[in-house]
Amino acid sequence: MRELSVYYCNKCGFYAYFQLPKNAVCHHCNIPLTRLDMNHRDFTSLSYEARDRLITLKMIEAVPSLTNRITAPEKLYEQRKLVGALTQQILELEAENSKLNETLEWMHATIWDELKKKQALKEEIRRFKALIPPADKDVQQQLAEY
Ligand SMILES: [Zn+2]
Repeated sequence: MRELSVYYCNKCGFYAYFQLPKNAVCHHCNIPLTRLDMNHRDFTSLSYEARDRLITLKMIEAVPSLTNRITAPEKLYEQRKLVGALTQQILELEAENSKLNETLEWMHATIWDELKKKQALKEEIRRFKALIPPADKDVQQQLAEY
């Protein structure tokens, strides 16, 4: 009887054991599986986690553009991906923060402007009041409301 070989799918990571290479086809992707360069007994003596790691590394190796960038084990790559995602998030939050600060500055400037205008108006009213003769009580009453 022929010995079983380990085959895996480069695309989805599915793996299975076959005697004949012609049977080694991925049920999910419908593409031929790749033979793993490790015998069946050694492979099955690995833990499920170790098998996953091995197949994952093989999958990464199968993509040339990835192999150029990834030389560290999969776990490190995952950490770098996480760091990358977090860094991106921080940058987005920083951008949002600076936008909020700009809005706040603009609001400050606008309020300050309004206050100055109001102050100038008060000043003007005060000068008008000084011009009005004391007899004209009606107008003085009206202006007092300001
Ligand atoms: Zn597949």
